[in-house]
Amino acid sequence: VIIDCHTHLNRYGPDEPSTLAERYARLRAEMDAEGVRHAVVLTSYKVNADRPSTDEVLRMVSADPRMHVVAGVNVQQLETELPGLRALLRAGRIRGLKLYPGYQPFQVHDARLDPLYETAAEFAVPVMIHTGDTYDPGTRVKHAHPLEVDEVAVRHRDVTFVLCHLGNPWFLDAAEVIYKNRNVMGDVSGLTLGEFLPRFERFALTKVNEVLAFVNDPAKLMFGTDWPITSLGSYLRFVRRLDATEEEMEGLLWGNAARLFGLDVEGEGGSRRDGADAAG
Ligand SMILES: [Zn+2]
Repeated sequence: VIIDCHTHLNRYGPDEPSTLAERYARLRAEMDAEGVRHAVVLTSYKVNADRPSTDEVLRMVSADPRMHVVAGVNVQQLETELPGLRALLRAGRIRGLKLYPGYQPFQVHDARLDPLYETAAEFAVPVMIHTGDTYDPGTRVKHAHPLEVDEVAVRHRDVTFVLCHLGNPWFLDAAEVIYKNRNVMGDVSGLTLGEFLPRFERFALTKVNEVLAFVNDPAKLMFGTDWPITSLGSYLRFVRRLDATEEEMEGLLWGNAARLFGLDVEGEGGSRRDGADAAG
C-alpha cells in the first residue's frame, strides 16, 4: 500500500487540463501507473477558475474510496469559513485542515486562529501547514518558517500538526520541531518541480536523510508528492532511495498517513477504525 498524503487538483499552468474532471482523471491514471492506492487532495486557500472549492472537489471525488480531502483554509476569512468547515467535519467529509502561511500573510500562532485549532481538536483531525519555500516571490516566506509551528504545537497539544515540505530549505529546523513535539509530523512533498534532476536529488536525499536520522521515529514522516507540481513516479523513486529503516519506510509510505487520516487501507468491508488498527 502507498498513500500520497499531499496532492492538489488545482491548475498551475496552461499545459494542465482546464477542467477538474480531467485533472482528477490524470491523477488517478498516475496513481494506477505507480501503484499508489490512496491520495489525499488538499484544496486551496483561494477559489477561482484554476482553484476549485472544497465543495467542488468533494463532489468530484467523494464517491471514490481511494480519494480523501483536506480543506484549505482562507485565514483572512476565518470567521465566515469556520461554520462551513465545521459542518464538513461533523459530516466526516474532510480529513483535516490545511493552512498556507507565506502564501497568506499571517503567523500560525496568531491567537485569532485558536478557534480553528480548537475545531481541529474537537473533531480529532490534523492541521497541515505549508512550511518553507513559496513558489511566489511576492510572498513573505518568514511566515512559513517551520520554527513558527513550535509555538502553536505547544499551545495546542491535542492537535496533530503536519509540517508540509519539511520546511524546505530549513530541514533541520523542521526536524527539531518534529522531534521535540509528539504532536508534530512532517511530509516530504513538494521538494522539487516536475522530475528530480540528479544534483538536486542528491541535495534533497542528504537533507531528508538528516531529518530521518535526527527525528529517529518511524511514526513521524509521511510520503506526499505535491502532485501535479511534481511527478509521482520520480517522487516515489526519490523516496525509495532514502536511507530509511524498513519500519521507517513502511510508516513513510502508508502507515503514518493511514493512522493520521483514519484511512481504511484494507479495502472493502473495513471501517475507518479497522484502517487505523491496521496501521498500528
Ligand atoms: Zn501542496
